[in-house]
Amino acid sequence: MRINTYIRKKSISRRFVLLMGIYFFLFALGAAAFLTTLNMLNHSYLTESYQLTKEEKITKDLDNCFDDTFFNERGYLAFNNVGLKNNAIAQEANVRKLISKYKKINSPINNQDFIQSVEEFTSYYFNDKLPAINSIFESGDQAKVVKLAKEEVTPKIDSFQKLMNNQLQKVDMENENHLQKLIDLQTEIQVVFVIIMLLSFIILLTILGYLFKQLGRPLAKLAMAADEIASGENTTIDLDTSKEDEIGQLSATFKRMAEKVQEKEQDLLAHNEELIAQQTELEDTLTKLMENKEKLKRHNQIINQISNTLNLQEVLDSIVVNMCKIIDADKGIITMTFDEAYASYGVPLSGVNQFLTHMKIPLFEQLTATKKPFSVRRQQEIADKGYHEDKIYCNDLFLPVISSTEEVIAVMMFSSFSSHYRVSEMDEFISLAKSIGISLEKISLYQKSEAERKRNQDILNTLKEGVQLIDQSGVVLQVNHYLCELFQCSYSYFIGRTWGEWTSFMKSQVIEGEFVENLTKILDSSEDSFIYTLAHSKRMIKVFCEELYHADTMLGKVLIHRDITKNYEVDQMKSELVSTVSHELRTPLSSILGFTELLLRREIKPEKQKQYLSNILSESKRLTNLINDFLDIQRMETGAQTYEKNPIKLLPILDSVIEAQQVSTKLHEIILEIDDSDPVILGDECKIKQVFTNLINNAIKYSPDGGIIKVRIIHEEDQVKIAIIDTGLGIPKDAINKLFTKFYRVDNSDRRKIGGTGLGLSIVQEIVHAHNGEIQVESEYGRGSTFIATFPVF
Ligand code: ADP
Repeated sequence: MRINTYIRKKSISRRFVLLMGIYFFLFALGAAAFLTTLNMLNHSYLTESYQLTKEEKITKDLDNCFDDTFFNERGYLAFNNVGLKNNAIAQEANVRKLISKYKKINSPINNQDFIQSVEEFTSYYFNDKLPAINSIFESGDQAKVVKLAKEEVTPKIDSFQKLMNNQLQKVDMENENHLQKLIDLQTEIQVVFVIIMLLSFIILLTILGYLFKQLGRPLAKLAMAADEIASGENTTIDLDTSKEDEIGQLSATFKRMAEKVQEKEQDLLAHNEELIAQQTELEDTLTKLMENKEKLKRHNQIINQISNTLNLQEVLDSIVVNMCKIIDADKGIITMTFDEAYASYGVPLSGVNQFLTHMKIPLFEQLTATKKPFSVRRQQEIADKGYHEDKIYCNDLFLPVISSTEEVIAVMMFSSFSSHYRVSEMDEFISLAKSIGISLEKISLYQKSEAERKRNQDILNTLKEGVQLIDQSGVVLQVNHYLCELFQCSYSYFIGRTWGEWTSFMKSQVIEGEFVENLTKILDSSEDSFIYTLAHSKRMIKVFCEELYHADTMLGKVLIHRDITKNYEVDQMKSELVSTVSHELRTPLSSILGFTELLLRREIKPEKQKQYLSNILSESKRLTNLINDFLDIQRMETGAQTYEKNPIKLLPILDSVIEAQQVSTKLHEIILEIDDSDPVILGDECKIKQVFTNLINNAIKYSPDGGIIKVRIIHEEDQVKIAIIDTGLGIPKDAINKLFTKFYRVDNSDRRKIGGTGLGLSIVQEIVHAHNGEIQVESEYGRGSTFIATFPVF
């Protein structure tokens, strides 16, 4: 309030406003006066100019009217044209009108004489002379007209026209004078304007100078003082505080403030010292925090690196490289204590070997005893020194890796040429080694479980049954190689396959359509097993299901795919054997029984008796042959068959077999086709005979309509082939491969009545193979067959 009152009274701004107000008031006044004067002058000029222009126009009009009158009157007098006369007379009214207009003009020129002269001449001409001349002319007195004109009127007219011309010149001149006056006046006004502007500019400068003195200088002083205080100079403040205006007030306030600031500065300095001490403390704490953060970061770094893999070597490599980085080492090595595994960084192979041979065990013993890291300062070796010749030292750090059971499972050694390992860092190294220990333990556990898993898989793979483990949802967890062999796929194909995937894959390889349904039945225990046949290998597989439990928890189900092809074949064989044996035995036995009963119970003629007895003999022989065949095949299968091999000539053997067989048939002719050779083989004569007997006997049996049977000997360099060629029933193509299988018989209508056991050809094959020979068959169904036995020549 005090300041406001003060400012109202003494304020510089108030003074500034007042001065500027006066200045602008005077300026406005001057400008108004100037403009009014200018306007007035302008107005008077325009009024005068208007009067003069009007006067000039009326004067010209009068002149024109008179000229017109004179011209028409002269035309009338010259040509006697009454129209022209009337025109001349009519001009009087116009003249009179113009004279009255002229009189009304407030002309600046004194025109009273002029207008009087015009009026007199008008009266003279129009009222007096014009009527007089016209009446003389109309009276026809031309000479009088000429005389009057020449002596009086024309001179009068001429002097009147001169008067008119003079008046026009006078008005023109007056106009020019008037314009010149205006130009002079405008020049004067411009000069006055410039003077006024100069004066007002000087006044303005004076006001501003006064203000600068009052305001600028004290302000500059104030700014300098503020600057000195701000720059921390201990200055004495020299300000004029006696003035009673704003600057005075400001200076006084500033002075007080500066003094206060200087007072406070001391307090602040003391405070600042305290803060600096606190800051140093905080910085120490921050440094520690940063160190801890760095430690954690390094810790995490190594843990992350070694957690990425379960491969021991990769982990050891990663540990040694990262530890070197973390502890600022130039080289290092880590080696497992119970294992040969190790990894090194920057250490040559010879150094590694030296460490493993000489250092590992004593170091291990020392670290096992103390379980603490230690560092050694030693002189650098030649290899480390490069080109330096002076003594240089390096620091070796030895670190045990301790497991969760407090065992030393690995030892590490690092060398640094530049860093010195401080005791304070040892805790960090121990904690790093602990983390490494946990990782190595994890890997060791993984390796153990992996080895166990591999062993289990190997055991499974040795099984000659397909094994398949599926979880509760039907996903395949494990299979063995045998299952993959059965389904002709890789081991990895099955693992992880869903129920839908693997069942449809299996189904695509199985002949039976209801494979998945049957599988579902054994999985839900509604059936114990089922059998399926593989389409590609024709193997018969029986599937069982067993539940797999760990403690009380069911882990899944084990499917066992057992190959029962062999058993099935044996079963087949057994049933075929039973039916064959029963049929083949029953036929000869019933004839023997029949003939024997007849012989015993009835009186039969001696020649009939002989026939019956020879029938009994031939059926008994058939039975004996049958039983011999059974015994032969059994001996051969069990390996009990022995062969007495001697060099034997084939021709005599074939001769005797053909002779014996020819006796039994009249429908066939058996021809022996020989070349010049006499082949000898190493063989059991009896068994070789059995081979040819069987083959020729079959040729006879399976040519029921008779025909020629050729026995052809083809002697090649080191082998001899014996072909038995018939023109009988022939053999269907699909049966050819199975002919040598035991009990196999071609089951066609054309040969159902022909007796046989299906053993003959398998016995032939056994004997031929036992003589290192081969048996082949070529046949055209319905046209005949050729059986070729090949033996090595002796
Ligand atoms: P089987 O006691 O039935 O004759 P084999 O082992 O000697 O037994 O012959 C097996 C099958 O081979 C016979 O059932 C027969 O159908 C066929 N077979 C053997 N030899 C001939 C041949 N020469 N001509 C036509 N088929 C033959």
